[in-house]
Amino acid sequence: MNINLRFGLQRDKEIIRNLQRKIDGLVIPAHILAYQAPVTAAFLSSFANMPFIIDPMTYLLQHSKDDLTNNAGDLRASIAKMCNEYHFDIAKKLTGNRQLGPSNIPNAKHFCNHVYDYQNSVEEKANTKKAIKKYLDRYGKGNSFTPRFIISPYFKFDSISDPWYTLSLNMGKMMQTICSEKGDGLDAGVIIFLSANNLDDGEIEKIASDYESFSHIIPWFDGFDEMDIQPATIVNARKIVSKLSGFAEVEILYSGFLLMTTAAEGAKAVSHGLTYSQHKSFGVTPGGGGMPERYYIPKFRAFRSLSQTDNIFHMRRELMCHCPVCDELLQGNPDNIVLFADEPEKLREHFINVRRQEADDMESFNRQSLVTELRSVYDTYHNLISKLPNPDAFLSGSNMRGLEYLNFWADGIERAI
Ligand SMILES: [Zn+2]
Repeated sequence: MNINLRFGLQRDKEIIRNLQRKIDGLVIPAHILAYQAPVTAAFLSSFANMPFIIDPMTYLLQHSKDDLTNNAGDLRASIAKMCNEYHFDIAKKLTGNRQLGPSNIPNAKHFCNHVYDYQNSVEEKANTKKAIKKYLDRYGKGNSFTPRFIISPYFKFDSISDPWYTLSLNMGKMMQTICSEKGDGLDAGVIIFLSANNLDDGEIEKIASDYESFSHIIPWFDGFDEMDIQPATIVNARKIVSKLSGFAEVEILYSGFLLMTTAAEGAKAVSHGLTYSQHKSFGVTPGGGGMPERYYIPKFRAFRSLSQTDNIFHMRRELMCHCPVCDELLQGNPDNIVLFADEPEKLREHFINVRRQEADDMESFNRQSLVTELRSVYDTYHNLISKLPNPDAFLSGSNMRGLEYLNFWADGIERAI
């Protein structure tokens, strides 16, 4: 299974470059490219071979301006720039707390043409500033500036009768037409942004039949929080991936370990950030602010704070990771977990080491042995974990979250679809 790392922060560029052999590609959000086009484009040029796609982020237009503003009350610069690239006055339509409807979105042909041109002009973006030349000189220019395919504008829909569903599908079809008219050899791909809750088999069939002419499909399961998920939702996600994989190459946007297991239903790739973006909801989180540093505990398939990890490793040393980063830093001594606080980039390297192994393990996926393993990890460690002082897994009162999710996963993965 492939890992396409989602690029989120300029500060991560160096570590991504160091980890490049562990990943298979990149996903570049369009607003980040719009805001910091020359450096982002130069970053892409710094690889000998790093396939990428550009997430057009058009669902942001379903938000009100109030959701997308900076502290001064203006539309965030990255989003404003992206909007201006797509359409001359779409940003002006965003006002106050008013949400746009499908009819406010510009003419499909016009809009798709701009979105196409935007994704297929990374090279020009890299060359707009002379300062960028130094990056190009330093890292060479081996990487292609052409995305793997073009992603059509997409919007979140609540049901298949939602007009946003129809609009997203029509934009996808329009992009197919544009791709063949342009003749650059680029296919049109789609992001299908939906909730895996409350879908019935009929709706799943309808989505699959509506999208059967597409060869690249990227499902984004809204708010698919793997730590808090019901087996029925897992089953729905598996059914969708299975149906779509019948005719298209499917890669999951925003995935943790659980959605990686849809490799068994045919998913070819997942994408997520460096320790963040394992799942994402429609709602926009305010920019800035540091994420707390967390350690990925391989057996738990989940992150814990460094202080939690310290506790856990002292009680159960067999949970310590033996990837090269951890072996070198921990030296077999759980006291050394604090050293990660000084070198947070090592937390990311460790995570990508483990994730690479998990992705490779999907090639020999065995449903029953995974289900058995998940239940056995729960049986062995749940009591221990749920009684720890556990501020990063607080539920309510004195209830702390333990490893219940592993049993939900086992139930959802085990069920026949
Ligand atoms: Zn490790």
